[in-house]
Order: sequence, then C-alpha cells, then structure tokens
Amino acid sequence: MPGGLILTGGRLITADPELPEAEAIAIRGGIIVAVGSNADALAFRAPGVEVIDLKGRTVLPAFNDAHCHPMAIGLAAGQVDVSPYEAPDIGTLLGRIRDRAASTPPGRWILARGYDDTRLAERRHPSREELDRAAPHNPVLITRACLHVGAANTQALREAGITRDTPDPPGGTIDRDSRGEPTGVVREAALEMARRAVPKPTVDELEDALRRAAEIYHSHGVTSVAEAGVRRPEEMEAYQRVRESGGPLLLRTYLMVILDEMLEEFSGTGLRTGFGDDLLRLGPAKIFLDGSIGGHTARMREPYAGEPGNRGLWMQDPEEMKRKIRRAHALGWQCTAHAIGDASIDLLLDAYEEALAENPRRNTRHRIEHCEFVTDPQVFDRIARLGCVPVPGTTFLHDFRPLYDASLGRDRLRYANAMRSFIEHGIVAAASSDAPVCSVDPLLGIRTMMTRRDFAGEEAFPEESISFEEAVYAYTAAGAYASFEEHIKGSLSPGKVGDVTVLGADVRQVKPEEIPEIGVDLTVMAGEVVHPA
Ligand SMILES: [Zn+2]
Repeated sequence: MPGGLILTGGRLITADPELPEAEAIAIRGGIIVAVGSNADALAFRAPGVEVIDLKGRTVLPAFNDAHCHPMAIGLAAGQVDVSPYEAPDIGTLLGRIRDRAASTPPGRWILARGYDDTRLAERRHPSREELDRAAPHNPVLITRACLHVGAANTQALREAGITRDTPDPPGGTIDRDSRGEPTGVVREAALEMARRAVPKPTVDELEDALRRAAEIYHSHGVTSVAEAGVRRPEEMEAYQRVRESGGPLLLRTYLMVILDEMLEEFSGTGLRTGFGDDLLRLGPAKIFLDGSIGGHTARMREPYAGEPGNRGLWMQDPEEMKRKIRRAHALGWQCTAHAIGDASIDLLLDAYEEALAENPRRNTRHRIEHCEFVTDPQVFDRIARLGCVPVPGTTFLHDFRPLYDASLGRDRLRYANAMRSFIEHGIVAAASSDAPVCSVDPLLGIRTMMTRRDFAGEEAFPEESISFEEAVYAYTAAGAYASFEEHIKGSLSPGKVGDVTVLGADVRQVKPEEIPEIGVDLTVMAGEVVHPA
C-alpha cells in the first residue's frame, strides 16, 4: 500500500530480543514505524493507510532463505510439468508437450520434467516417435522425476549427436530397440549428452525464471534469498534487469559469486562483498570443496559405511582450494564454500585460520555452506572462535535422513545440522532450503529444526531440536546476519524494511508436525502485499 499498512490483532514473533512478542505493526514508506500494541500501531492510521485485523494469526518477519538457487527454481518451473499428478498416462503427457509446442518457435527446445514410467498408466517410457508426433518441429527432452533418466525425440537425439552408431558413453546407456535404433530413453551420462545440447538460457529466459521464482517464494512467505552462485555474466545481467524493473516480482537477493569463474573479473574493478543495496547485493566468493552424501562424494574423515576405501572426494587439490580462499580473503571478500563432510569443514576452517593469520580482518563472517556433518563437538569451538556463519540445509534431515543413515551409519548423524549445538556455542547459523534440492517451504524447515523428523516421521537425535522461536530466528535474523544486513532486516523492529509474513493460523495452537499445513496467508514486502498477488 503506497499510503501504508497496519496489521492489528496478531501474534507477532519479532526475532527482536528487545521486544520478542507484540500484537500489531505499522509500516510506512516501506519501513516499519511501529511494533507493539494495537494502539501503538493505530496511531499511524491516516487516509490511504490500510488496516487489516489478523484475528490472532501468527506474524513473523518475512523469511530469508540463506542458501538456495532461485534461477534453477524458476527455470524448472518454466518446464512442462509432466509429473504423475499432471500427466497420469502417456496420452495426457503427449498432450501437454503438444500444447507447449503450439506456442514454441520451431527449433527451440521443449523441456519437461517429473514423469515416472512406473506411475504412468501404461507403465513405460514415452517413445521417441510419440514425442516426434507431439512436437514435430522442436527438440524435446523430458526428464524423469529421479533426474537420472530422460526421454528424447529424434531431433533432440540428433542435436545431442546420438545415433544408432553412437556407443554408450562411460557411465551411461542409450536404450535401443530390437533393430538397434535408439528408443529415445537415455540414462545417466547419456542423459548428460542430451542436456549438453540444450542451449544455455538467454538473459530474457533467466529474467522470466527469476520472476517465477519470486512468485513461488512469496507464496511461502519468503522475501529474501541468497543465490548460491552466479557464474555467467548473463546471470548477473538478469538479476540487474529484474532489480531495475522493480514491481512486485522481486526478491531481496544476496549473490554468491563462484570464485573460479568470476572473482578475478570482479576484483579487477574493486567490487567486493557488500556492494549493492537492500534489493540486490554482492555476496561472498564461493568455492566447492566436496560433493554430496547421496553420491558418496562428500569428503569425510572416516570411510562411507561398507566402503572401506571411500572417504569421498575433493573437488580440487586441497592446497589449491585453500590458496583460493586466502586470495579472496586478502581481497576483502566474505568467503564461503560448499562443505558437507566433516573433513571438508576441517579444511575450510584451516583455510580461514590461515587467511586470518596472514591478513587479520575483523567481522569477516566467513560462511560454511551446508556445514552438515560435524562429527566432533570441538569443531563448534573452532567455528565460534573464527566467527564463521554455518548455513545448514535445514530441510535435509526431512528428505534424506534414511540415506544419511545408510551412507554413514547412525552415529555420524549426532551433530548433523546441529542447530542446538550451534546456539549453545554462540554461533549464528542461518537456515536454508537449498531449493530446488529440497522444497522452498520454510515451514517445512522449521518443522524439521523443531522435530528432527524425516518424511516418514523417523527421528534423528532430538537433542539437537530447537524451539519455534529459535527456528524463526534462524530463518530470518540469522540470514540477515549472514549477509551483514541485520541493521536493515531480519526482525520486526522499527526502522527495518516492512517485510512481514502472516501465517494461516496461530502457530501455538498447532503441533510442530502440523506447522507446514497452516501455510502462509499474507506476504508483505516493503509494505506492499506481494502474496496473494
Ligand atoms: Zn546449493
């Protein structure tokens, strides 16, 4: 509302220790001007100021997803959805491809996602010929829900260089019929061959993707994100275009810059972490240290369960990675790294320690993306001493607990995403979804931080559970701290941006397990209602 917005009769959980709870809030000129009683907020009543009675619903600072991939979310949302819910049989699936083809210029790729041959009525993959008939003038690639298998049409195979004479690539399979012709089904490395043939998205396409991502995030009460890595100038350009055009489809974005691809170019101009404004800001220089638990590539101190020789991977030579971090630190950047396994967390802390010894700097807030598998509680003391900010994937246990258990054994989950231990050691840990790896929904992350339960209800070390208020702090104020923006956002406090989320009910009336079901009724950004649109 240009005039302003007043929300009364709510149960505000502010994430501000000065006034943790309140019943009303007033926003003017995009900034919070009052938090307190209904009378305090209504004092700002004036013509053109909208007043909404919340009838006891919970009000929070809008969420800040401290590690996610909005561009990837938006690009995936732009693909044709052929998941079992939308396309229960092959006829429906082909109909959706045909509809998209009707509005797609000839020659442009049509990408679809989410089919599952075992859940289609026919219990098979769509054939290359069927996809040809649905889109005769476009390459088509549809990816199975698992992301490891796809089905392509003839034109897509041709552009990927896959013919009957192409041998299976190492680590992949090109399915063939009885005559030896490719059926269109490509697995693993063969799917990668097809993916590589898809042209990189243009700036226009990236811009559309960012608007779609903002819409999705707003519907879940999120107005701030940290984009976990730009690596192409086109991506920077798209973010800047969206920033300039304004309007409601914006997210306040903190941009991690992939060190290998872009750091030197930025640094040549003198730009570094913090440049920008409350809508778009340069974030940390990022590097990848290791892989994932699912792929058994996260770097561990001890081998994976049942694989005595496998402790995971380093993405590059460890000394080289440390050198890169020291360089970014010396240039004045906030640094960060993808570090999931305990050994890569050790290496990153070594790098930060050496960097700080070489070039003492205060208030660096060097980050640890994921920081998942601390296995030795002494590591918490090191994180605290170095002033680092872990950014755990706070929905990971919900999605992956059984996989972790099978890959590492139960004992190594003791300090996985250890929110309680972080708090006890005075460490500010910022919650994140890592979407599209997990759902964008912060309420699912909050439930997981509170219950430590997976999708099947199985619990992992409830010693690390935290309260609703602590989980909200991790998803709001801690994210603002991780981007050096705690003075402008992250809590419902006078003088901060008017970004507010109203849940669908009073959260204290529902069990932690049911919190995701209450959903988000209202998302406000700079005093404007951005959800519902
Ligand atoms: Zn990520």
